[in-house]
Amino acid sequence: MERIDGHTILIGLMATPIRHSMSPTMHNNAFAKLGLNYAYLAFEVGNDQLADAVQAIRTLDMRGSNVSMPNKQKILPLLDKLSPAAKMAGAVNTVVNDNGVLTGYTTDGTGFMKSLADEGLDIRGKKMVLTGAGGAGTPIAIQAALDGVKEIAIFNRQDAQWKQAEKNVEMINAQTKCHASLHHLEDRADFKHELAIADIYCDSTGVGMKPLEDMTLVEDPTWFHEDMIVFDTVYAPRETKLMKVAKEAGVKHVLNGLGMMLEQGAEAFKLWTGKEMPVEYIHQLLF
Ligand code: NAD
Repeated sequence: MERIDGHTILIGLMATPIRHSMSPTMHNNAFAKLGLNYAYLAFEVGNDQLADAVQAIRTLDMRGSNVSMPNKQKILPLLDKLSPAAKMAGAVNTVVNDNGVLTGYTTDGTGFMKSLADEGLDIRGKKMVLTGAGGAGTPIAIQAALDGVKEIAIFNRQDAQWKQAEKNVEMINAQTKCHASLHHLEDRADFKHELAIADIYCDSTGVGMKPLEDMTLVEDPTWFHEDMIVFDTVYAPRETKLMKVAKEAGVKHVLNGLGMMLEQGAEAFKLWTGKEMPVEYIHQLLF
């Protein structure tokens, strides 16, 4: 409370539902630790209030905001500029206000890549198999392609997200040096074959999280090999069924989505403040 005064700079989070979010705790503790005069507050904002809320960033001279569901795509036309990755992903999770000019970024993909780097893992020039093409899968695929991953095989089921998966593949092939391909998740032989030649498998479907915590898209450990990375974007539970199967297969690097969650926040923190978030401190504090 001692930090909050007449000079405090406000940063928001605009989404609904939003009361469960860990972001306010994460950012406010990081501001306090570094002695920065910022405050981060969550606002219950849906599509109907979004234009007013975005205008308020300018009016109130807020430094920026995070954006989550259902606003990640709807916010695009309300902003002045977009980062290359946000433009390609067609989604924004972070807004920065520079004297009334609002720029949209997506930090989920950089958070994913940074969380691998934190473990000493470099997937540039490598082959990735990715399941899912939604709010997490899309920025992961785009950022991995932009950062130099050689090949991405995207598997999705035939649902509403299939079209997004098609778009992602098209865009990656047109705008990056990475080769992307789209596969039917229902084709188990193809899925098994692609996993056998992959350097990293990332599951961004949320299978493994409530109410699907006893499920995994890969049940047979022989589909994995020891030298690959298995990454689940889920972080509750800490160890998903997928991670258990990968460990049974002897996979050396098995990661959950906790590092990605912290690093996407750290990336936004840096965009707003220019400072590095004390990630290790926040990790200890929250988990
Ligand atoms: P989304 O609904 O936008 O996309 C889900 C994707 O998974 C789609 O491609 C869909 O076709 C596929 N899918 C869903 N259910 C499936 C099933 N039963 N079988 C096969 N495919 C299925 O969701 P999202 O926003 O991308 O979130 C997905 C997961 O990623 C969630 O568990 C979320 O918690 C996690 N996530 C983690 C982080 C992080 O920082 N670690 C960030 C964002 C999302």
